[in-house]
Amino acid sequence: RTRDEDYDYLYKIVLVGEAAVGKTHLLSRYIKGTLPKNPTSTIGVEFATRTVPLETGGTVKAQIWDTAGQERYRAITSAHYRRAVGALLVYDVTNEKSFQAVRRWMEELRDHAEPDIVIMLVGNKIDLCDRNAEVRKITRAEGEKFAKEHGLMFEETSAITVVKVKEAFEELLQKIYNVK
Ligand code: GDP
Ligand code: MG
Repeated sequence: RTRDEDYDYLYKIVLVGEAAVGKTHLLSRYIKGTLPKNPTSTIGVEFATRTVPLETGGTVKAQIWDTAGQERYRAITSAHYRRAVGALLVYDVTNEKSFQAVRRWMEELRDHAEPDIVIMLVGNKIDLCDRNAEVRKITRAEGEKFAKEHGLMFEETSAITVVKVKEAFEELLQKIYNVK
């Protein structure tokens, strides 16, 4: 965390989770309000920033680090995690494997990021369940239960229909501000 005139604290936040769960889409939606131009690429930089006035007063600058697809090879370097105070750990509610992998990502965070890192568990792509409920593999209750058992925050999101994207990022920032 550093101090500046425009904001009170700078928070490094990392995006983690299996490939194709929607990390880059969520980040692009939050930072730019649009979807990424090249759907398979990263947002194009190592990180994106947004300055956020909090409900409780105070302003934080979020520096949010996306992966460049290294999660496909489980080859995320320690630089990605270094000094991260928060994480969005994303799975896809229609993909069981991506939820099973959450445990491993949690361990990865606890090993490489700040020991007291605040984690928001995010079940993404809920829009896919709107037309056909059967595509959902992980219920909201299962996600919530896992989060509760491991002391994680929780939201279900859609980067496509824009559900709870801002909330997922900003509840995390607010929590970090409250506990630091
Ligand atoms: P990443 O590998 O985790 O960064 O995932 P991407 O952001 O690249 O998204 C992977 C794929 O999932 C793309 O084809 C997106 O269009 C799709 N996707 C991402 N978010 C959503 C979402 O909320 N709903 C739906 N239906 N598709 C999504
Ligand atoms: Mg990506």
